[in-house]
Amino acid sequence: MRVVVPGAAGKMGKMVIEAVLAAGGSVAGAVERSGHAAIGAAAAPGVQVGDDFAGALRAADVYIDFTAPEATGGHVEAAAELGVAAVIGTTGLGPEARAAIMRAGARIAVVVAPNFSLGVNLVCALVEEAARVLGAGYDLEVVETHHRQKRDAPSGTALAIGEALARGRGLDLGTARRAGRDGDVGARPPGEIGLHAVRGGDVVGEHTAFFFGDGERVEITHRATSRSVFAAGAVRAAAWAIGQPPGVYSMRDVLGL
Ligand code: NAD
Repeated sequence: MRVVVPGAAGKMGKMVIEAVLAAGGSVAGAVERSGHAAIGAAAAPGVQVGDDFAGALRAADVYIDFTAPEATGGHVEAAAELGVAAVIGTTGLGPEARAAIMRAGARIAVVVAPNFSLGVNLVCALVEEAARVLGAGYDLEVVETHHRQKRDAPSGTALAIGEALARGRGLDLGTARRAGRDGDVGARPPGEIGLHAVRGGDVVGEHTAFFFGDGERVEITHRATSRSVFAAGAVRAAAWAIGQPPGVYSMRDVLGL
């Protein structure tokens, strides 16, 4: 498996390079945005960080993107041109990047996941089932905690958990979601799904789905203690994507959940 890693000097990019090598793959290119201080530095044995993403793709089977929302659309367009599979973990994507992913999915296999950990993908399946079983008498809230440098809120994983809760309850997350509460907000309506973001320190990522009933409550929590779980999951997705027909896939497809 020959893998290009954009964002190679970022927190996730470095982990992905380690995970590619640990899985027996090769780093076909380590790329950063033009002008980045890491350009020219060693990224892996015999591989230096460069700034030519499309050039690096020419010798690759797949690329793994943990960069920034404004970079993701251009990356997937370049990969679709060259027939290289894509694995996208960048979160906070806007409508333009999402549209670019959908267009690329007609030409290449694209795996997009707000969270590549096995545990979180299991949690999404569990909370959907819990919301279905517990029913409308239980109030649904999600609280997520991340390190102080995270740019987007709520996290992509919190949104995925919110979507799973909404599916289980038969709600539309777009109208049911409630971000934080402040001031005279009145009593809580039954059809809300609260999404709350806490930021600080070096927290890798924690998510709890609460099901508040009368006389009891259920909590389902996932805590990531190392980014290596995301990198290992992304590499697993990359190996899977190489053999797939064109389409936009999720981690549930990769894991067969
Ligand atoms: P980071 O800021 O440490 O790294 C991002 C890197 O991308 C930086 O080195 C930056 O220079 C680089 N970059 C930006 N634009 C680029 C471009 N055009 N070309 C090449 N490189 C470019 O951030 P991080 O903690 O590594 O997270 C990156 C993204 O991954 C965020 O959106 C984060 O939310 C997401 N993330 C997703 C998962 C998951 O499982 N899906 C897990 C962790 C983080």
